[in-house]
Amino acid sequence: MYDIVIIGAGPAGLSAAIYARRAGKTVLLLEESAYGGQIVNTPEIENYPGIKNISGFEFATNLYQQATGFGAEFKFEKALEIENLDDKKVVKTAKGEYEAKAVIIATGAKNRKLGLNKEDSLVGRGVSYCATCDGMFFKGKDVAVNGGGNTAIEDAGFLSNYCNKVYVIHRRDQFRADESDVEKIRNKDNVEFVLNSTVEELVADDSLSAIIVKDKNTGETREIPVSGLFVAIGQQPDNKNFENIVELENGYVKGLEDCKTNVDGIYVAGDCRTKTVRQLTTAASDGAVAALAACEKIDK
Ligand code: NAP
Repeated sequence: MYDIVIIGAGPAGLSAAIYARRAGKTVLLLEESAYGGQIVNTPEIENYPGIKNISGFEFATNLYQQATGFGAEFKFEKALEIENLDDKKVVKTAKGEYEAKAVIIATGAKNRKLGLNKEDSLVGRGVSYCATCDGMFFKGKDVAVNGGGNTAIEDAGFLSNYCNKVYVIHRRDQFRADESDVEKIRNKDNVEFVLNSTVEELVADDSLSAIIVKDKNTGETREIPVSGLFVAIGQQPDNKNFENIVELENGYVKGLEDCKTNVDGIYVAGDCRTKTVRQLTTAASDGAVAALAACEKIDK
């Protein structure tokens, strides 16, 4: 039996693993895809205290190496269910069942989709959710970024360095992103803000050739020829597998700053938790809080 099974190896889960291992607990990290979570898609992190500038991929890799270096065990398996028994928890995957004294849910969140026709079939042929991963395919071309948060603005800045033109399509005229980042791209010659507007249609034969954008105020539509559309309209949680065991609110696991759920011995950390600020720093902070709470329970 493990002391703690951590579900999800993003910044919250990996931080929890570091704290739990340093407290001498045995730890299994379960991750369905790649370590690092959403942060691997961030070209540049400039707001993590103590680190002036680092790529998301390098940050995630450092975190992973730190956690496994401290002895956390890592398996690429998706947690399908948590069973709460009197004396232990059992986390079930397609490959096995793992017993633990405590479980930390740190499943993060996934990219939200626009829900447009052809959106899924055009992934890899013009539609992308990751500028860092796919941006280089559009070197010298015209692209659009949809969204008004930090991800969209950072993506637009990144793409403007080597794409011919970058349209930023946002449904309002105010940005959620940090003003300093918006200012960085506002006056770039090859960036055009298309505000109060939504993407209504994807024009494509084999691959994306244009988007139809609607101005919410005038109702007018405009066809913008682009080879790439980077969708950066936020995330949504993926906790459906745990809805029968822990309480959810709008898909997020209900938990306060102490990272406790409604089930004794099951904790929640990072973006998958009900909270107001979803940042790298708060994910790492949650990981520490959840791990120390789990350690305290185990040691009782
Ligand atoms: P976000 O902050 O939730 O922003 C999502 C954006 O997409 C908003 O501007 C929203 O518009 C728009 N949007 C949502 N649903 C839409 C829809 N159906 N159609 C059109 N537009 C839609 O998401 P994010 O930018 O991915 O950031 C997520 C979290 O990570 C945030 O807390 C962010 O600060 C953080 N983050 C931090 C960094 C960094 O610090 N370096 C980098 C990336 C992300 P409205 O504004 O109108 O709601």
